[in-house]
Amino acid sequence: MGGLATAMLGCPGMPELPEVETIRRSLLSRLEGRRLVAVAASGSPLRQPIQEAAWQACVGARLEDLTRRGKYLIGHLGRHAAVFHLGMSGRLLVQPASSPAPAHTHLTLGFSDGLELRLVDPRRFGVAVVMPAEEVSLYPPLARLGVDPLEGDVEAALASLAGTRAPIRNALLDQSVVAGLGNIYANEALARAGIRPTTPAGRLSPARRARLARATRDTLADALAAGGTTLADGGFVDGDGNGGYFAVALRVYGREGQPCQECGAAIRRAVMAGRSAFYCPRCQR
Ligand SMILES: [Zn+2]
Repeated sequence: MGGLATAMLGCPGMPELPEVETIRRSLLSRLEGRRLVAVAASGSPLRQPIQEAAWQACVGARLEDLTRRGKYLIGHLGRHAAVFHLGMSGRLLVQPASSPAPAHTHLTLGFSDGLELRLVDPRRFGVAVVMPAEEVSLYPPLARLGVDPLEGDVEAALASLAGTRAPIRNALLDQSVVAGLGNIYANEALARAGIRPTTPAGRLSPARRARLARATRDTLADALAAGGTTLADGGFVDGDGNGGYFAVALRVYGREGQPCQECGAAIRRAVMAGRSAFYCPRCQR
């Protein structure tokens, strides 16, 4: 039921790469090197059931690192790897074990020195799975991911779309092409590159592909520097419960009818594949 309604609204709280990377950094700074001492699950399934026994097998291991692939976080716990995805409404919060757990806490990982990592997910579209460390690269959702725009070659990924008639905005949301973009940053990168969201992905010239690759990296880097995007109606917070500041810098996303900051034309909204696309009719061709 909620899936379609949320798609039409554009999932404002859904974390994308800059938000997940911001969460990664805040969690790592609090938990790196700490030993996992306790595990508790609510019993409610997320996208899949939480395998509490598998999590219990990690007790005693230290959190050696926390890495990111697209919108996934991977906790390195000795011989185990813990994979998280925040879905539409998930939050990972580091809080004192002595504090009351928020409503909708579905997984609690207790670490040494009295800190808990709490996965709070009202809509339960998130993922929290643990597996032997050597299997993580084979885990299908991770194995399917395309290039990470902060590290990989986005231009080559766009060149691989030759012949694709799908609109470029939709292609940018395909995690097997570029991993980590959601609707906010796909629209923003296209605005920065001067490319209309409806342009067929396979028809971009090499020069426009290069411009879009650069715009994608720059948009994500600016959003990361601002600590991510937290819209007025809420959504994303980092591991300490703080929001990000990129919303004020948005060029087109959520600005239907408002003037383009470059030319003053009214920003337009179109609905493509059930999600809003925003663009300036003059600056984006
Ligand atoms: Zn404009």
